Amino acid sequence: MKLKTANLAPNNSSIMNDLSIDDIGDDHLYTGLETPMKLDAFIMSDKEKKEKISDLFLQIMDVMGLDLTDDSLKGTPNRVAKMYIEEIFSGLNPDNKPKIALFENKYKYNQMLVEKNITFYSNCEHHFVPIIGQAHIAYVSSGKVIGLSKLNRIVQYYAKRPQVQERLTNQIAIELKTILNTEDIAVIIDAKHLCVSSRGVKDDTSATVTSYYGGIFNEPHKIVELQNYLK
Ligand SMILES: [Zn+2]
Repeated sequence: MKLKTANLAPNNSSIMNDLSIDDIGDDHLYTGLETPMKLDAFIMSDKEKKEKISDLFLQIMDVMGLDLTDDSLKGTPNRVAKMYIEEIFSGLNPDNKPKIALFENKYKYNQMLVEKNITFYSNCEHHFVPIIGQAHIAYVSSGKVIGLSKLNRIVQYYAKRPQVQERLTNQIAIELKTILNTEDIAVIIDAKHLCVSSRGVKDDTSATVTSYYGGIFNEPHKIVELQNYLK
């Protein structure tokens, strides 16, 4: 994975328009395609990360006044640390990226393939609360085809990061473009953000839709065809 820490700053400041973090409030900024990671992100082992997160989470609970000797609470720091590293943020580690094998397009199928309603769980990087949604992916083979479950695994890999929906959409699309060696990729994501529904403005009915249309999917009749499949 390419790391982008060094050149994020100028980008950030232009987008932020000299606004402070308080000014920005709940507005979700999107600073770049790649998840902003430190250059030394993987010097620590997963075991060390879990130990450290457990200690730090214990401190957060302690500061909030929770009794860490209580039987129900005392295992929580360890559980949270394990869940962060092994499950909900496991997509930060490139070692966990799904291994993708491609196959020859023996059926000579040359129309769009749509894999729809791929359920995913992610977390908003601004509040660390869940984003729950469905991804729909379409591609037209340029000669190779991908196992259907791999489309699902690519979505899950990028979802398991602190995310913003725009970045998640583009990361999935760029990954598919690279793997399948084609511009003819579409990704549509329809998701609910718990930072909008369970707190803040507390809007339980709104949902966010983002899309990426590459190559042939920019042709109006292809967009209509795709949207018909998604109904
Ligand atoms: Zn949020």
